[in-house]
Amino acid sequence: MTPLHHLSAIEIRDLFCRGEVSAVQIAEYFLRRIEQYNTSLGAYLSVLGPRVMMKAESLDKKRAKKEPVGRLAGVPIAIKDNMHILHEITTCGSNFLSNYKAPFAATAVHLLEDEDALILGKTNMDEFAMGSSNENSAFGPVQNPWNAGCVPGGSSGGSAAAVAARLGLIATGTDTGGSIRQPASFCGVVGYKPTYGRVSRYGLVAFGSSLDQIGPFTTTVADAALAMEVMGQHCPHDATSLDLPPESYPLSKDLEPGTVIGVPWRFLEGLTSEARKNFDDAIQVMKDKGAQIVDVDLDILKYSIAVYYILATAEASTNLARFDGIRFGIRSKNAKSLEEVYELTRKEGFGREVKKRIMLGTYVLSSGFQDAFYKKAQKVRTLIIDAFEAAFNTCDAVMMPVTTSAAFEHGAIQDPIQMYLQDIFTVPANLAGLPGISVPSGYDSRGMPLGLQILGPQMCDVALMQIAYAYEQATNHLRIPRDYE
Ligand code: GLN
Repeated sequence: MTPLHHLSAIEIRDLFCRGEVSAVQIAEYFLRRIEQYNTSLGAYLSVLGPRVMMKAESLDKKRAKKEPVGRLAGVPIAIKDNMHILHEITTCGSNFLSNYKAPFAATAVHLLEDEDALILGKTNMDEFAMGSSNENSAFGPVQNPWNAGCVPGGSSGGSAAAVAARLGLIATGTDTGGSIRQPASFCGVVGYKPTYGRVSRYGLVAFGSSLDQIGPFTTTVADAALAMEVMGQHCPHDATSLDLPPESYPLSKDLEPGTVIGVPWRFLEGLTSEARKNFDDAIQVMKDKGAQIVDVDLDILKYSIAVYYILATAEASTNLARFDGIRFGIRSKNAKSLEEVYELTRKEGFGREVKKRIMLGTYVLSSGFQDAFYKKAQKVRTLIIDAFEAAFNTCDAVMMPVTTSAAFEHGAIQDPIQMYLQDIFTVPANLAGLPGISVPSGYDSRGMPLGLQILGPQMCDVALMQIAYAYEQATNHLRIPRDYE
């Protein structure tokens, strides 16, 4: 029999439904893998052993009684540690919340549980989702399963590494400026960022509320589609949740006849030659599938890093104001007055990157500077949205790489600006609220994975997934890293 970790989520679910494996066997199998590999990999921050075993036992009973089971029955899933699981700790990768027990479940988590997923644990991440390498986690780094010396990407580095190392077959991530697509690309798995508002943010610890989206990491596009069918539902607890009926994602390996794909050639500067070659190959694949490739003018995207790091920090500075030492998480033991409770708790609780962003965000919002920074950035954001709208009048999807190169080594990027520039190809989708996907597109000469990014117009998640599926089926670059086979 194929080892369970070589299967996709859909395959493992079908195996369970046919009665060829029990949920208890699946849960035990993946818990064993976590035990074997996680100490060095660092992908999971907490493992919910007793909880998942209880769920598995009740699922097996349900199947024995021939009751209907959910669409994710028996699928082992990991949750990024900024999303609430009822009564479990949500650290957000921060010392600040190291003791914070969630009093309710995130809608997305709840929807996964309702479909009988087996939730294994919570994954490591950059503190409050701020970072591109997982090096900002208060609980230590995550290794890239393809090369322990390299970063897995961030901020959802633990989720990407968990799926790449097959310590789970689906993981949730959040994408504010690329935190699903970039780590997916660095770890050689599929990462999907839905249209803004498609998945409810209720129960997600907010970073940049106008940018944040929850989405899945998977090993195949079909699994990402399944995860979206489950998680992409309207939720009355999130005012920005799209009030639309849930969608189904039919997939065919052929492109819709007449598909036009736009490439913003002038924007694609700074690619390493290997990343460029990889991208050119992907375009050829799409041409062979019958797509017409056109040039689109998205020159304005050169401002997106500046715009993003103004708006995201502004929103973060207000969102993180709630961590005051009184309502959530830790409280400084050294505080002698109310003022000191605020000051010392924030000083002791937040890491360096988070403090930097709170200060930057407070600055761009301060009176006197607000017009020059925050309001100006909002105006440029509108121009970016307009540019995408114009581009999508001439094409069905836009293709670009996810990053300028494959994963870098731990500690290799010290300059914060260089780190922020990592997000050059990913932040535009967040600024415009677009759906985007990272699909494995091959490997560089060091054997490190690269990803192809495809973006679609707002609300066109289903059509976008279809294009990604056609590309995946024509290429299939999916592999399991040697150390985790
Ligand atoms: N790397 C980006 C940042 O540091 C994106 C993070 C994210 O999407 N959560 O802000």
